[in-house]
Amino acid sequence: MPIGPDFDAKDRVKQATSIVDLVSRTINLRRQGPNYVGLCPWHDDKRPSFTVNPVRQRFSCFVCDLHGDVFDFTMKMESVDFRGALEILAQAAGIVLKQHGPKTEPGNPDHKPTLFEAMKWVEEQYHQCLLHSNEAIPVREYLQDRGITQESIDKFRVGFAPLAWSWLVDRCRSTRFTPKILEACGLILMNNRGTWYERFRGRVLFPIRDTQDRPIALGGRVVPGIYGTEDEPKGKYYNSTETRLFTKSDNLYGLNIALEGLRKADDKSLTIVEGYTDVIAAHQAGVTNVVAALGTALNERHIRLIKRFADSITLVLDGDDAGQRRTSEVLDLFVTSDVDLRILTLPEGMDPFDLCMKQGGEAFQKMIEGAPDAISHRIRTETKGVDLLNQTHAATKALNNILKTLAGIPASEIAASAAKQLRQQQLIGRLSRQFQIDSEHISRRLNEIRNSLRPRNYDADADSKNMVPAKIQTVDFSSFVGKERELLQLLILQPALLDTAVEKVSPDQFVAGPLKAIYQIMDDFFHDEREVDHDSLMLEVQDPVLRNVIARLYDEAASKNELESGDSTSFALDMNQQFDSVLAAFEDEVIANDHRAKVSQLQQKALDKEEELAALEELLNQTKQRHGL
Ligand SMILES: [Zn+2]
Repeated sequence: MPIGPDFDAKDRVKQATSIVDLVSRTINLRRQGPNYVGLCPWHDDKRPSFTVNPVRQRFSCFVCDLHGDVFDFTMKMESVDFRGALEILAQAAGIVLKQHGPKTEPGNPDHKPTLFEAMKWVEEQYHQCLLHSNEAIPVREYLQDRGITQESIDKFRVGFAPLAWSWLVDRCRSTRFTPKILEACGLILMNNRGTWYERFRGRVLFPIRDTQDRPIALGGRVVPGIYGTEDEPKGKYYNSTETRLFTKSDNLYGLNIALEGLRKADDKSLTIVEGYTDVIAAHQAGVTNVVAALGTALNERHIRLIKRFADSITLVLDGDDAGQRRTSEVLDLFVTSDVDLRILTLPEGMDPFDLCMKQGGEAFQKMIEGAPDAISHRIRTETKGVDLLNQTHAATKALNNILKTLAGIPASEIAASAAKQLRQQQLIGRLSRQFQIDSEHISRRLNEIRNSLRPRNYDADADSKNMVPAKIQTVDFSSFVGKERELLQLLILQPALLDTAVEKVSPDQFVAGPLKAIYQIMDDFFHDEREVDHDSLMLEVQDPVLRNVIARLYDEAASKNELESGDSTSFALDMNQQFDSVLAAFEDEVIANDHRAKVSQLQQKALDKEEELAALEELLNQTKQRHGL
């Protein structure tokens, strides 16, 4: 295994990143002895169970059974693979990574950092245009009329694209951003005469930023009266197409700004509205945890994104029927994820923008707090207009629909949580009263429906290659063979022992898949004359499951080491003794296997007389040896 070209860079990134600082950006940590502790972001934590060890530069959650370093934390938090985590941390640390392949040189339309820089430049051009150009006067008036303040315009970097067909292309000529780069950002198109034209011309623009606060796309809205003699374009709202930087389902408008408050808040809740201006109005009115989906219905990717930052969501709907229908689809999604969902249905004809502008943020906040949870909302909409006691057919249908939603929560999840059991009982009791049906009967029906549902594959749509499943699959440690686990721990703590180990134990002697894979990597390292300590392993191995196993082996071994090593020389002695006995265990197994093979050959009488005698003699000798005779 050759040393990767980035090995050095990975090491520098790791050195430059403090795990305490990194984790603190997401979780409130407090000091506890030599460590820091906080609530784990990946399970419903009350304890806290999440520990950060600043000396070892690692984190662990013993409930999730997750262990790792700055790369693992970033991989899981940002839903990226190892390379993605390396890029994020390198950028934060100001370390330049070598790019793979010739296609991604800076200045190339495939080079993501160049696209990020271009988007930043574009955002600024359009923003300045809105602030200062004469052509934007009607737009400034329009925004002012609607009540959007200068402060909001600055905060959200609102912009304007003039009507000229080539405004942006003309400007980019004096920069290093070519039209091809702007095209890759989804900003300009080429017509059939071979000239570039602007996608967003004549629109007020709402830049969309990612969770790292980088502009990645634009949303545009028609401004009435701008188009002069031209027809107003169809479609009031217009989003960037998907690009290398932007996918609709992996981003939410305003999340970059909402995160500032959300990261510090105890109450991690997000409110989702429909439009850009709804978000701006809410923030302006002081309700800052508000975001909008980007021209697409809420889906599993959004939920995965939201779960990284919030544990409860309020979905705000206009009072129309289309909104109601969409909700029931969304609802089924949320029921299976453990995000708490509330549904706020606004009075007919009202949207969050008007509400915030006319009645203020407090009124909006109050409505959000009073919103019914999703199941209650479901019961309410399913039973609306149905006479539950007399319209038997309609009532049965409504009950079945409600139970189908409830059945989406897997039985295993309910069994594991007392709160969820209680909640289910309450809901069944409530349905029983409302429908006048025995609660036993409802429970039974719920179980029937639940059993008929196939388990959902939560990550089935993770199609982007940078996506790794949000839930890192973990390995059952108790299933590992003791001696295999011990040997690896010894080698991680004392790499000098590898010399002997490689000679005596081959990777094929390992039973457990992940341990075997790790030992194989150590073996490769050894033959390449590379160091095999824990740090170099963690810089080389990228598979999240293997990383978790290595980290956990190390954590366990290092804790034992710290506990027992009052006197380090005696510990080293212990370690050598332990090493000898582990090697002996491997050797014993080889002999025992051989023994078994011989016995089975004897039993099958597969040997001729002479061989039989020789085999018997050998078995006898082995047995004597084993008993020290
Ligand atoms: Zn956890």
